Amino acid sequence: MNRHATIATAATKDVLGIYQPGSTHMVGDGFPVRNLFPSNDLDREVSPFLMLDYAGPQYFSATDHPRGVGEHPHRGFETVTIVYQGVVAHRDSAGNAGVIGPGDVQWMTAASGIVHEEFHEKEFAKKGGTLHAIQLWVNLPKASKMSAPGYQTILNADIPAIDLDGGAGRLRVIAGSFLGNKGPAHAFTPIQLYDLQLKAGHRVQLNMPSRHNTLIFLLQGRASVNGLREAGEAELIVCKRDGSQITVEAQEDSQLLVMSGEPIEEPIARCGPFVMNTREELIQAVHDYQAGKMGHLS
Ligand code: MN
Repeated sequence: MNRHATIATAATKDVLGIYQPGSTHMVGDGFPVRNLFPSNDLDREVSPFLMLDYAGPQYFSATDHPRGVGEHPHRGFETVTIVYQGVVAHRDSAGNAGVIGPGDVQWMTAASGIVHEEFHEKEFAKKGGTLHAIQLWVNLPKASKMSAPGYQTILNADIPAIDLDGGAGRLRVIAGSFLGNKGPAHAFTPIQLYDLQLKAGHRVQLNMPSRHNTLIFLLQGRASVNGLREAGEAELIVCKRDGSQITVEAQEDSQLLVMSGEPIEEPIARCGPFVMNTREELIQAVHDYQAGKMGHLS
């Protein structure tokens, strides 16, 4: 009664590919980003994640006019902003506002529609300084795309930080769990999101559910997965769905973002800030935005 699909030993989750930024552009005048996907034509390989923009690190000179991106809409997904350096201020049409600095995360559920702005925080802009951040878009399943918008400010102090064995580094659980430590973010589908610092010559063993898409983005440093391939600064390691064991080893002191999630097996229709399932829904989104149904900033 041996079924080949039932394998007793935990298999390794191997590397599918390593990708460099596929495009570089400015978001507004405040966020110089390198895009990892979708610019690399990654779609089903990275589901439920939709977009990864790596902003900076870049120094901005002092100004009385904070740089950033003005009023714009989103529908159909969540935006997750992780700040490493600098301070970002947010305001949206659902009445939420927040300021996030180093170590903080903003988890915004656009869902049925939101209008927001994202700027360098006033005092940060006034002094000048380095901005270093990531914005990740997380898709919503069809059943939740038209849910009410939401907003979670997740401060550094709310994020469990686990010191890894043998002084290997530190892992912060933003979403999902690691060794029984639960992250504070509420997601609509199963997701693990870790901020990982790994010291040169050290390793960490990650155990992700089989059938999850797992992505490891290297902000800085040099690291390999399962002893096979090395990635460098601003490179994205995409793992295969099969298997669960991932060994990350740092060749240099490294800063990494580990993203893992259950794929959403539904069609994707995208147009700029809207991500739905069909073209008709995109047209509806444009109409609803133009009709003011996603609100305005007061
Ligand atoms: Mn936005």
